Amino acid sequence: MEAALIGLDAHEIRTLLGPAEPAFRSRQIYEGVYRNRVAGWDELTVLPKSLRAQLAARVSFGLPEVAARYDSADGTRRYLLRLADGKTVESVFMPEEDRDTLCISSQVGCPVDCQFCLTAKMGLERNLTVGEIAGQVILLAKLHGLDPAERRMNIVMMGQGEPLLNLGNVVKATRILADPAGVGMAERRITLSTSGIIPKIRELGAEPVRPKLAISLNASGEDQRQALMPITRKWHLADLMAACRAYPLRPWEKLTFEYVLLGGVNDSDDDARRVARLLANLNAKVNLIALNPGPGIDFDTPDPGRVESFKSIVSRSLPCFVRKPRGLDIFAACGQLQRMTEPSLVKIGAAT
Ligand code: SAH
Ligand code: SF4
Repeated sequence: MEAALIGLDAHEIRTLLGPAEPAFRSRQIYEGVYRNRVAGWDELTVLPKSLRAQLAARVSFGLPEVAARYDSADGTRRYLLRLADGKTVESVFMPEEDRDTLCISSQVGCPVDCQFCLTAKMGLERNLTVGEIAGQVILLAKLHGLDPAERRMNIVMMGQGEPLLNLGNVVKATRILADPAGVGMAERRITLSTSGIIPKIRELGAEPVRPKLAISLNASGEDQRQALMPITRKWHLADLMAACRAYPLRPWEKLTFEYVLLGGVNDSDDDARRVARLLANLNAKVNLIALNPGPGIDFDTPDPGRVESFKSIVSRSLPCFVRKPRGLDIFAACGQLQRMTEPSLVKIGAAT
């Protein structure tokens, strides 16, 4: 059975049902899957039993399975999810006082070779399907009883993978997540983060329904960026800035620039001044991320004083925040998603 129900849009569900079934049946399925988030064909009890059995024989339901869960002392949960072909990928649930954030993956592994990131070490295994992207949200919302209509919920496409290298599926999943008749997320609560694949940034900007855009800058100049993110030898900083200036922001939107601070490498006051200058004319904000460590990552976390100094310099020109690490003790924080399962490794973060 190749096809899966989750990931199909309203039109595709109608096609699946065929012309003999009335239109309201496809609406019932669409709402059952995306709005009511039922767990499987068995729970779609609005359908006649015979129709359910007939559809279940043709199409799998398509929710990923939980292969393992790691619980952090700070409430963060990292899920290792098993997909239909047996591959596994990660999603992270981060509760906060006034909202919940889900960090989801767009690919199994990542083909981009950022030197500070554990996911890079996996290489790319494959793109996720539309259903596997949306399915992470549906499953975690179900497991944690989340409902975007009741409590603020954010989705960040910052898990495994480079979302702009799987743009078609990411955009289609976003349409399903943002459909008021479906999952019902506000577009402004969905954010995609990219290492800066320039032509795909332009393509994303042309989409009528799309996540907010965050760009991993991570360096204050071209040479430094190329050393830390070798893919940027192809996508130059000046062209990236031009694409950002031309990006069609919606009235409520700002560009976000993420900047991983690597102790003694890109965290000097001069770096901060260069970043401020680079972004000065953009409608943007900056999120600083102190390096989250991992085995085989040959960089140091910067001193807290450095982070503060960097932040205060950038803040003179544009809004600048420090991202609080979540789930460090269970390898769930930014750049730590590498399907870490060994208990000894999972404990490294807890000791720090
Ligand atoms: N691939 C996308 C999204 C996933 S990575 C991207 O790179 O933008 C999400 C963020 O984590 C990126 O801003 C990335 O620069 C950052 N990151 C990667 N490795 C990190 C690490 N070891 N510590 C802190 N942040 C890291
Ligand atoms: Fe891929 Fe993002 Fe990690 Fe770079 S930082 S290797 S783009 S997941």
